[in-house]
Amino acid sequence: MKELADGVWNVRCLPGLPWAVNAYLAGDVLIDAGCRQSTGRILRQLEGHEVTDHALTHAHPDHQGASRDVCERMGIPFWCPEGDIPAAEDADVIRQRQPDKFMARFYWRIFHGPGHRVDRAIKGGDEIAGFKVIDAPGHSAGHVVFWREADRVLIIGDVLVNMDQYLGIPGLNEPKAALTPDPEENRRTAKKLGALEPDVVLFGHGGPLRNRRKFVEFVEGV
Ligand SMILES: [Zn+2]
Repeated sequence: MKELADGVWNVRCLPGLPWAVNAYLAGDVLIDAGCRQSTGRILRQLEGHEVTDHALTHAHPDHQGASRDVCERMGIPFWCPEGDIPAAEDADVIRQRQPDKFMARFYWRIFHGPGHRVDRAIKGGDEIAGFKVIDAPGHSAGHVVFWREADRVLIIGDVLVNMDQYLGIPGLNEPKAALTPDPEENRRTAKKLGALEPDVVLFGHGGPLRNRRKFVEFVEGV
């Protein structure tokens, strides 16, 4: 695994294109867990690392896909943002909450994993693996991000992406509207995160962005 910031590693969730679907190991907490096809790949990369807990930024099919299997195989608890717990525990709720669009149905069908009982509700203000949890709704009802002010690292989930989710072409953008229940609220969230002025942004999709100004200017323009 590649260390992207102090104690933060990238976990690749799909073969082929690097950065297409990311999870992260922050300290001893696995943040996100790719698609249901990602279990073996995630477990192999985590070998030799201590992992005590698994947390989600949000309960979408390409983030919760391997959650149940990874938690069961590693014997670790499952943490989920409060507003996404119904979706994390019952994958059918993910489908119901997504826009009624072809790509949302397609993503759900090919990627989602089984629901899993949540052991801890994550809330804004919580401290996890040295990061502060910040509520970041819009892309999902309960979406959160993880912020470490000391070195200005932001694990942003899908509030923004740094790669076109359909084409794999790199570039900073909003997540696809077809995969985002409330794009307007997501834009408000993005602007709020711009005020943090992060130096390192780690995305659910796409490689790291190490350019504070580019991030701030982009969110001002959304
Ligand atoms: Zn995603």
